Amino acid sequence: MRATWWQAINIALCRASIEYYQRVRDEVGFRQKGYLWLYDADAYQRALEHLPLQRKLGHPIETLTPAEVNRRVPEIDKLDGIAGATFSPDDGLINPNLLKEHYRHRALKLGAQFLDRSYVVGFDVGGPDVRLECWQSDEALTDEGLVRLMTQDGPGEAEPGRIFELSADSIVLTSGAWTPSALKMLGLRNYTEPIRRQICLVDNRTTNLANYGMIVDTSGVYFHNEGAHILAGYSPPDEPPGYHFNYDGEPFFPK
Ligand SMILES: Cc1cc2nc3c(=O)[nH]c(=O)nc-3n(C[C@H](O)[C@H](O)[C@H](O)COP(=O)(O)OP(=O)(O)OC[C@H]3O[C@@H](n4cnc5c(N)ncnc54)[C@H](O)[C@@H]3O)c2cc1C
Repeated sequence: MRATWWQAINIALCRASIEYYQRVRDEVGFRQKGYLWLYDADAYQRALEHLPLQRKLGHPIETLTPAEVNRRVPEIDKLDGIAGATFSPDDGLINPNLLKEHYRHRALKLGAQFLDRSYVVGFDVGGPDVRLECWQSDEALTDEGLVRLMTQDGPGEAEPGRIFELSADSIVLTSGAWTPSALKMLGLRNYTEPIRRQICLVDNRTTNLANYGMIVDTSGVYFHNEGAHILAGYSPPDEPPGYHFNYDGEPFFPK
């Protein structure tokens, strides 16, 4: 959870989120321990250019020299290639499952209904209301079935389910990385692209990062404490967009 962004709209939206999550801190497991972002020389220059806007929009952020990084996080002891760092204390980590439950409960209280295992497979916006053609699987989908469905090949014959229709005055699309397919069905221009993110859990019993929030190294790999482990994640910037559900395994995260 961070407001350390570069466009005013993202910073303002995420500042509002931080203020909200501070109010429901325990319910969503908000560990507000900051983002420590390490940069090489070029990226540090760009990060410095973003500071005035971030600060103007009320997002506290400080700069650190490599020696200060090591003093603050002694576990970071290889400082080669680090030109500088930023630390934003208001950012932090949220438990995604608690967060989902939090929103679900709030929405239920406000009268929302959830239709689990249901997928919109067609839209009709020609009439006075919006009609959605939906497919609901009888059971949780297999991984293969889910991949087939979410990459537009449909549920396939192997998955038992039923088609039903919904209608509404208006709809809001919140389909994340799958928005291109919904926009295609609607004949609207697409602005989004799916990018694969790979993550791994490191079982390291000698290093405890529980006192820190998110750390992003100069390569863009990020890592943070996750229960008894360390979670690391990365999206190679040169990988073409697309739906890839496979994991490249340990060689992807060299030591
Ligand atoms: C591995 C990984 C790690 C991440 N780590 C972080 C992090 O540490 N911090 C952070 O802030 N962000 C992180 N993100 C990004 C964050 O998860 C996303 O930005 C966020 O979940 C987007 O929320 P959303 O509601 O827009 O979309 P999503 O959470 O993707 O929700 C979209 C929903 O729409 C549903 N859907 C799609 N098409 C249809 C359809 N046709 N019919 C019915 N339902 C449909 C999908 O099933 C899905 O449930 C991470 C992402 C990944 C992949």
